[in-house]
Amino acid sequence: MKILKFGGTSVGSPERMKKLLDIIDPTERQIVVLSAVSGTTNSLVEISAKLLNEDKQKGTELIKDLHEKYNAFVAELLPEGDFREQGQEVVDYHFNFLLSLTLDVFTPIEEKVVLAQGELLSTTLYHVYLKSINVPSVLLPALDFMKIDEDNEPDIPYTTQHLTPFLEKNPETRLFITQGFICRNSFGEVDNLRRGGSDYTASLLGAAIMADEVQIWTDIDGMHNNDPRIVKGTRPISHLSFDEAAELAYFGAKILHPQSVFPAQKYQIPVRLLNTMEPKALGTVISTESEKGKIKSIAAKDGITAIKIQSSRMLLAYGFLRRIFEIFERYKTPIDMITTSEVAVSLTIDFTDNLNAIIEELNAFGTVEIDQDQTIICVVGDFGAEKHGYAAKVLDSVKHIPVRMISYGGSEYNISLLVGTGNKTEALRSLHNRIFE
Ligand code: ASP
Ligand code: MG
Repeated sequence: MKILKFGGTSVGSPERMKKLLDIIDPTERQIVVLSAVSGTTNSLVEISAKLLNEDKQKGTELIKDLHEKYNAFVAELLPEGDFREQGQEVVDYHFNFLLSLTLDVFTPIEEKVVLAQGELLSTTLYHVYLKSINVPSVLLPALDFMKIDEDNEPDIPYTTQHLTPFLEKNPETRLFITQGFICRNSFGEVDNLRRGGSDYTASLLGAAIMADEVQIWTDIDGMHNNDPRIVKGTRPISHLSFDEAAELAYFGAKILHPQSVFPAQKYQIPVRLLNTMEPKALGTVISTESEKGKIKSIAAKDGITAIKIQSSRMLLAYGFLRRIFEIFERYKTPIDMITTSEVAVSLTIDFTDNLNAIIEELNAFGTVEIDQDQTIICVVGDFGAEKHGYAAKVLDSVKHIPVRMISYGGSEYNISLLVGTGNKTEALRSLHNRIFE
């Protein structure tokens, strides 16, 4: 069985929704995961923000505006008769429900319920549309089988246990449809897998039912070997190993929700990134197989702050790094890159809300220096220990650029450089030309 996930733009208009059947083969047994219609989740976030702020009037106004948009959507998706009425009922039901939430106290719990309406709407409308053209399908309620625990970690065995009965109850059904993004939390409340989480749903479902493959359909032809907005002549990467994809997850967040790689990796379910606009293009396959000894991709992440702590007390001391890391832990600040010398350590963060407090505590350990506006350049590929020459090739490409940090050997799949953001474009282009051209 396959899992096919379509993002917001792939269901962004009635026309696009109808075109999904160019890609979905309704005779094959599969689960189709849909995002909300593009723009909807953003609107729901805005509505929630007003209601959390007790601006009921503006909140209500925004709900009515969105309702109008959906009225037009249904009129185009389901132009005729009974199905038109059914579609309109679905829309009215969800929007009346949203309006009812404006009448009472509104907390972050209600916010999650509001955010869930986008995926509930898109999947139900698509289900009605399929009925209207006589394509049989079964709508699966994601809230009955998608679950996260106290630490926001998805519970895959729970999904297996609660989804399997639905699939067994419908042995003849080929086409199942379900909502991406939404789930329940450990209190049983409606929750979600964070923005962009429909990809994650697809990969969790793939793991839960040991699918043959997870397909993520977006509007780009797979993951590119460099940033196409900056570098000319980038190409889609045809094959990535799970390890390589995991290294890129942090950088490729726009294409694939970063967490999505991990369930697929753990359960070894291949993930294919495909383009709705160009269904025949091969896209990118992420699986256990990959070409060995090749550099696959160059990626960058801006908004990085480097912190250097220099202290003679670090020499021959133990426990020094632990005490430094504890400070970051206390301020819930993830550390990305790290390099050490005998008497200094440099590390990077991208969440800087608590930077001042962190610096204050670090001052007790030695001299602290901060470099802002830095960019991590990450070169990903298969650089096994027996291979040689990769680091030299990478460094040679940036020999004309000041490099603040280098990280190599953390895994066999990554060489990272930290450069000033002003040098990012040149670094990406130079690496691209020397490695791929
Ligand atoms: N609709 C959700 C969002 O916009 C989830 C997704 O599209 O993946 O974030
Ligand atoms: Mg997405």
